[in-house]
Formats: sequence, C-alpha cells, structure tokens
Amino acid sequence: MRVLKFGGSSLANAERFLRATDIVANNAKQEEVAVVLSAPGKTTNKLVAIIEHAMRYGEAELQIEQLEADLQTLLSDVQAVLPNVDGEGFDKQVKLSMSKLRDFVQGISLLSMCPDNVNARIISIGERVSVQLMKAILHTKNQNSHLIDPVEYLVAKGPYLEALVDVDASTQRFNAMPIPKQHVGLMPGFTAGNELGELVCLGRNGSDYSAAILAACLRADCCEIWTDVDGVYNCDPRIVPDAHLLKSLSYQEAMELSYFGASVMHPKTIAPIAQFQIPCLIKNSSNPQGVGTLIGQDTGEDNLAIKGITTLDNLTMVNVSGPGMKGMVGMAGRIFGTMSSHGVSIVLITQSSSEYSISFCIEADYKQRAQAALTDEFELELKDGLLEQVEFVDDVAIISLVGDGMRTSCGVASQFFTSLAEVHVNIVAIAQGSSERAISAVIPENKISEAIKTCHENFFNAKHYLDVFVVGVGGVGGELVDQIQRQQGKLAQKDTIIRVCGLANSKGVVLDSAGLPLDNWRERLQDVTEPFSLERLTALVERNHIINPVLVDCTSSEVIADQYVEFLSAGFHVVTPNKKANTASMQYYHQLREAARKSRRKLMYETTVGAGLPVIENLQNLIAAGDELEQFNGILSGSLSFIFGKLDEGYTLSQATELAKEKGFTEPDPRDDLSGMDVARKLLILAREAGLSLELSDVIVEQALPPGFDDSGDVDDFMARLPQADAYFADLCEKARAEGKVLRYIGEIANNKCHVRIALVDENDPMYKVKEGENALAFYSRYYQPIPLVLRGYGAGTEVTAAGVFSDVMRTLGWKLGV
Ligand code: ADP
Ligand code: ASP
Ligand code: MG
Repeated sequence: MRVLKFGGSSLANAERFLRATDIVANNAKQEEVAVVLSAPGKTTNKLVAIIEHAMRYGEAELQIEQLEADLQTLLSDVQAVLPNVDGEGFDKQVKLSMSKLRDFVQGISLLSMCPDNVNARIISIGERVSVQLMKAILHTKNQNSHLIDPVEYLVAKGPYLEALVDVDASTQRFNAMPIPKQHVGLMPGFTAGNELGELVCLGRNGSDYSAAILAACLRADCCEIWTDVDGVYNCDPRIVPDAHLLKSLSYQEAMELSYFGASVMHPKTIAPIAQFQIPCLIKNSSNPQGVGTLIGQDTGEDNLAIKGITTLDNLTMVNVSGPGMKGMVGMAGRIFGTMSSHGVSIVLITQSSSEYSISFCIEADYKQRAQAALTDEFELELKDGLLEQVEFVDDVAIISLVGDGMRTSCGVASQFFTSLAEVHVNIVAIAQGSSERAISAVIPENKISEAIKTCHENFFNAKHYLDVFVVGVGGVGGELVDQIQRQQGKLAQKDTIIRVCGLANSKGVVLDSAGLPLDNWRERLQDVTEPFSLERLTALVERNHIINPVLVDCTSSEVIADQYVEFLSAGFHVVTPNKKANTASMQYYHQLREAARKSRRKLMYETTVGAGLPVIENLQNLIAAGDELEQFNGILSGSLSFIFGKLDEGYTLSQATELAKEKGFTEPDPRDDLSGMDVARKLLILAREAGLSLELSDVIVEQALPPGFDDSGDVDDFMARLPQADAYFADLCEKARAEGKVLRYIGEIANNKCHVRIALVDENDPMYKVKEGENALAFYSRYYQPIPLVLRGYGAGTEVTAAGVFSDVMRTLGWKLGV
C-alpha cells in the first residue's frame, strides 16, 4: 500500500490535475493506493480571504462568485480534455459548499467575527471539491475509487484550527471500516473529526500531515508527497536558484528543516511516519521521472555535515528581562505557560547564562496577544521593578542550519556566524537545540536573502558570485572589462560567476543588477546621463541583495578615492590601481583599513606598485611572517625605466622622452612621469606597507629634470624646451660612464626615510640591467641580505595592469577559491 498526497500546487489547473490523476491511476495498476488531496491551487487562501472580507465589510459576494467561477473553470477545462468526465458529483459538491459558505458569510457579517468551528468548515471546502473531481476523472480511466471522510476516520483532539490526530484510535476506525479492495481510497486532506464528530482542521498546509496519518493508519509501505519541486532542496529554491536537491534525509533532519521553514513539507508530517518507520518520498508531479528526496531512518549517502539552510520570517522577538529573573524559580514556566494558555506558539527560545533574561520568537501576528498576556501575568513584578518593560523586536527572521552530521563536525557555528558577518547581518540571538542537529540565528528580516545566499555559498561550495562595478573605463578599466568578458565562460565552468553590474565614466553610469551584457558595453556607455554616485550603487546592491559587490576604481580621481571608506562600510570590496587613497593622509590610510576590517571587506591595491608584479602581496607576506624591511631601492616607473635605459644607449633625454611618448610608455603629459611624483606615491605606499608612518610631503623628491628646469606651458611647449635639459644629462651620463656606472631613476627607503632621485649604479646593483620599461624592486630585510629579494618584470602596460586588477578582484573571494 502506498499513500500519495498531492498538494494544491499539483492541482492548480486542469493540466496539473489530470497529470496528478494519471500518476494515481498508474500507481493503482501496480499496487494498492490511497490518495490525499489538498484544495486546488490557492483555494484555501481565497476562502481565508472571504472570511476576512466578511468580517471587515459585512459581505463577500464578489469573492464567492469568483471562487465558484474558478472551480467551474477547473471542471470545464478538465472536460475540454476528457469530455466524458461526469461533472455531477463535483457540481453538487461545489453548489452545496457555496450555499453553505453564503450562509456562513451572512453569520460572520452579522457578528463581525468568525468562530473557529465555522472557520474550520469554511477553509476546508476546497479539499472536498478536489476529491470529487479526481473521483470523476479516475472513473473515466476505469479506476474505482472510494471516498474516505476524514471526519469519520481520523480521530482528532485539540483546537478547531490546529488539531492533532490520534493514530491508534484512527487505525481502529480504518480496521473497522476498511477501504474496499481494488478501490483507490480518496481522502480530502487538512481535516479530521473531533470527539463530538465535528470537523476540525490540522493547521495551514496540514494535508501533508493528513497523508502521514493515513500512511501510519494503513501501515503503508511508502508515503509520497507530490508537489511542484523535484524534492527537498538544501535551500528554498525560490531564494537560491542554484540550490541542490537532496537525495535523502533522516526523519530528524526533515523535521528540523520543515520546522524552521522548508515549506515543502509540514513539520507535523514526520512524527507519524517516523513512528512506524514508513519511508517518505517527496516528488514533483510535473516531473514524475525525477528521483525525488527520500526521508527515512538514515541520513543517506549525501555525507554532508549540513544538509540544508532554512528561514522563517514574519517573526517578533520578545525579551523578558530584569533583576527579578535571577534565581527566581518558575519564571520560565510562567512565561511559557501564559503564552500557551493564550494560544501563542513559540518558535525559538534563548536564555542568557546570567539568567537575567529570556528571549523567544513568536509569529508577528501574535505580538498584541503576547504583550497583553505578559503584562497581565507579570503585573506585580513590572510594578515593583523586578522586571523591565517587556521588549519586542519586530521584523526578525530565523535562519537555521540543519544536518545530523553537525554533531560530529567542528567549526560549523563559527563559519555560520562569520558568513553572516561577511554580509553585514547583525545577529540578534542564537540558539542550538540539544540534539545539535540544528543551529539557528535570529536576524533582521530584510537580510534573509543575503544571509541564505552567503551561507549557501560558504557551506555548499556552491557557485560564487562576484558583482563588479568598474569606475573609469579608459585604458586599464576598459581592458579589464574586455578581460572579464573573455574569462566569464571559463570561470563559470569553475562555479565562479563574475558579472559586471555597473560601468561608469566621467559622463555617468549604467547599471544592471543581473549583469550588463558585455558585447557592446562601449556603445552602451556613450549616451549615459545618470550620474555615478555611492548612493545609487548602494541602493542597487541593497535592493537586489547582492552579497559580493566589488568596486573597481580605475580612475586616478581623488574624488572616488575619498569615498572608499563609505564604499567599504556599505559592504563593497574595493579594488584599485589608483594610488590616491593609499597616499592621502595617514589618518585616512588607517580609516580605510579600519573600515575594511569592520565590514570584513577587502581593500586590494596590488597594481598601485609594479602593475601586475606581485609586490604588495610579497611585502605583506614578509612582514606578516615577522620579517622587517631595512632598506629598499627600486625602479618603480616603467616610463623612466625606458627613458633612462635609452640614455645608456647614447640617446639624449629629449630624444629618449620623445621616443617613450611615441610608444605610449609615458603619461599623455610626460611631466607627470618626469616630476617624480608618481614614483614618490609608489614609494610611499611601500613604505607605509612596511610600517613607516609617513606623509607624501615627507618623501624627498628630486625630479628627473635638471634642478630649476622651466617645466611650464602646454605639453608641446615643454617638449620643445626639453632639449635644453640634454646637456645636463649628457654630463651626468659621462660622469657615470667614467665610474663604470649607469644612471637610474630610483625610489629608495633607507633609515626610515623615502627618497626619489637619480642614482648612479654599478654593475653589481640589481638595477644596473633594468631598462626597456621594466621595473625592479630590491627589498633588503632581516631575512634577505646581503642579497636582496628582487622582483623584476614589466611594471606598466594596460594589459598587465588590468590582469593584476582582475586577479585582485578574484582574490576578494579569499579562501572560497582556496587562495
Ligand atoms: P504544495 O502545494 O504541494 O503543498 P507547497 O507550496 O506547500 O506545495 O510547498 C512546495 C514549495 O516549498 C516549493 O515550491 C518551494 O518553493 C518551497 N520550499 C521552501 N523551502 C524548500 C526546500 N528546502 N526544498 C524544496 N522546496 C522548498
Ligand atoms: N489547503 C490547505 C492549505 O492551503 C492544506 C494544504 O494544502 O496542505 O493550507
Ligand atoms: Mg504544502
């Protein structure tokens, strides 16, 4: 015997209803089958709305007519496919139900309230209609069926809207009134009968529970829950599109998952089937071939510490605290007793170890009731100051990790809380059940998406998302976007999804939270008018729950650099080849790092020195390992490396500069290179990285021009005047050559001071052979001397710089990529 339950989603229209009936008929050919049906589609919600409308407005005729029409459409659509379906039973049921409904609505309208027993009778109308329709369809397939009235068979206790069924007593009824052989038993879900023989409901979504009860009473071999998804996923597939389907779950895991929000199955479903060890299969009625999820004794072969992540929203947290709590026997009993007697169910409880406070979560709808009950119960304690005013924290949600394997694995909680911190989720409270099978955190409701997405990424090594906003799309920025476009496919194969969600130039910004198409990005930027702003980007990130936004600043603008603190604080990683932020005041330098630390975001600036060469990373690693920088010298400018290299070959300064300019090795205005300020900034970045507290004004800069050289005018004036510097350099070169040396333009850190200057170096110096635009950096440290650690290679160029920025962007994912 198998019990098959079809949820509202599987009965929502004629096509689905017919598919569900086919599944029943096919199964019935193989073995005995009993079926539990929900109301079609959203019928129950519509009935609830009718009650509310009647209470508020004194009638609900339009809604009733609409519901009746929807049900009639369902029948006629079924008949359009199978004309010989006899609609009489269905029609009769609908008419009878609607007539009773109208009577009830009249009463409700008069009273402006709806007693629970009436409420139960109204909201369960849909399930009775469903069984009539399935019976008629089965008949056309020559399949006999027998209606099981749950009010007669299922013996229930408790409130009209949330009753519990007594399995033993109900089993006796099934034994006394067995379903005829060769008939499919058809039972409306969601209801049972109390000791007075009245209809009671089993709670919203209670048809799953009905199915479990029926399976238990009939000692079925399997209970199948047919729904609109392929089984139980490790996260709600509506929030996390790449959630994984779970092959199997233990009863306990399924219980915790459903309790904490996995609405694919009602939490009450598990107890009856677990009691008789009946396996439960969750399947998709639109994909019957799918394997589904098996719930049984074992955890199954998935072999995961964490099986799933669930969330429950629309909650309020109640904090009861005060000096009177400590040591006072029975406080918890009184709090929870009064909640229970007022019908407020409690979702989660935590208590501070000082016993000073007890906090618990309730459904938000119960807030008023809870407030009144607690004020009443603790009237005296509140008056005497033994209790503080009860605090209610609204709009909270619970996120829970569930898995049997958590009991034997370490570090789950720490990874959980770190993940939440990464996306700026403030944890209001935490709780772990003694079974260690679930760990929960109470968080602000508006952060659910971020929380679940980041936990899913971190615990299941699922796809990682990098959502990039590139500001400044000239040379390096433009090349970066092109490189991203070329790499997107390859990275996606390795489960890293990189999207460019924003592009900005001096005119404005284009944004798309789903990622801009990159094939024609340059054209898209041509007519932008929307100005770039921090607020605009932050709003987009918040609204779309983007968890890994990365701001890439490829401008040389101070205005953008001045906003990094705000960007970091708003949850952006910041990646930049722009030297302005790191060479602003020491105070700002510290602020940046503090903001990054606090918001657990990364500030990456590897390309500010030596372009793509791994300079900053190596220096940071040395310092982290306890090494100390004692001296540094290096050629830090690609353009000056080229120009000074050409001097060795006999070029004059003006010829060498002209050539460098022609080849695009210099800035558009070569004075930006020759002034030495670019080198000074790079040197300052290195010095600060090594621990020196210096300002840009502390760097002593000798320009790469003769002292007092007139560098005024526009670029052409300057270039025309430059030959006047040639003699000075020819002299210097001559002097160097006489000593067997060459001229090099270097940055130097020595005795805690920074110096940028023209140096004469001999052939033993690592700088001697460095020319043609190469950079070379020699670090003399406690560990590296007398021979320094030397890094050498192209330290400029759009492609290598963009590639360096790209690798910084990737490194914002940190350990998630195993780096
Ligand atoms: P039915 O109408 O069949 O009872 P429900 O709407 O009650 O269906 O439950 C199925 C829905 O549960 C799915 O469509 C899915 O959106 C939601 N759901 C939430 N969490 C999960 C999860 N972890 N796995 C699968 N589905 C889930
Ligand atoms: N129809 C009921 C509801 O929507 C019961 C169920 O479908 O499980 O709550
Ligand atoms: Mg359901």
